[in-house]
Amino acid sequence: MSACPASRQNGPHAVTINRKAELERDGKLTLWLRRVLAEWVGAAFVQRKKRGKECPCHMSLSCKVVAMAHHRENNEWLRQLNAEVIACTRCPRLVEYREKIAREKRRAYRDCEYWGKPVPGFGDPEARVLVLGLAPGAHGSNRTGRPFTGDASGKFMFPVLHETGFANQSDATDREDGLELKGLYITAAVRCAPPDNKPLPQELANCAPYLDRELEGLKQVKVVVALGRIGFDAYLNYLKRRGQLASRKAYVFQHGAKYKMADGKTLLASYHPSNQNTQTGKLTRQMFVRIFKEAARIADR
Ligand code: SF4
Repeated sequence: MSACPASRQNGPHAVTINRKAELERDGKLTLWLRRVLAEWVGAAFVQRKKRGKECPCHMSLSCKVVAMAHHRENNEWLRQLNAEVIACTRCPRLVEYREKIAREKRRAYRDCEYWGKPVPGFGDPEARVLVLGLAPGAHGSNRTGRPFTGDASGKFMFPVLHETGFANQSDATDREDGLELKGLYITAAVRCAPPDNKPLPQELANCAPYLDRELEGLKQVKVVVALGRIGFDAYLNYLKRRGQLASRKAYVFQHGAKYKMADGKTLLASYHPSNQNTQTGKLTRQMFVRIFKEAARIADR
């Protein structure tokens, strides 16, 4: 390795070079370089956020700190909403049912501590695709506390979300399993497990204000994927409440149906990934993949 030229040692670079040599001696050069890099990435993150782009790097400490502050500031409304959902007791029949299931448990889960409360939405607050399901499963989300987690519907859905780039993994077993969604948020028409998966009209009405607040707050959403007729109707009813839809008549639920709605979003209908549909072949993995590929295509337009 050639020696540093004398002119540079005495010139304007001398201070930097000497400082670097000093730091190297002290074993601090790596730390210094990491700090410089972190500051650069942090500044780049802020600039890109201003231009509405994604964070360029998820490794540097300053980038993470800036990102966390940004998310905290922007998503306080969602934290507040989810806290209210979890504490909700508006539907006496569902409160009784969800708690009874949590007490009695299914034999296979007798050692598990059931969630037994309303299940809040889950996913990316910057989502461009919203998945609107029916309700928590009695021994699925009502046990784990996260939508589609720990039941057959989730086992069918999350591999598809992983394959289409919306999830970082295909497994969803419990709230600590490391699952993260990217560009997608999952919610439901009702947030408490109903007997026989059939919420009453009054229960759907009781829960609707939570859906309204989610839809108002998730401002990047361009596509709503309705899983099943109840999710489909829940979205149409939301538009009716907002005065953006006079009648539901023209909107027919069928798998793959796609409608451009008055609020600018696209409503995409899918069969629900329930056992009943997936075991009978009514909904195949290929059909479901097509739905999420289409949702991604529309959302990225
Ligand atoms: S279904 Fe909705 S409104 Fe009814 S108790 Fe559960 S969270 Fe509350």
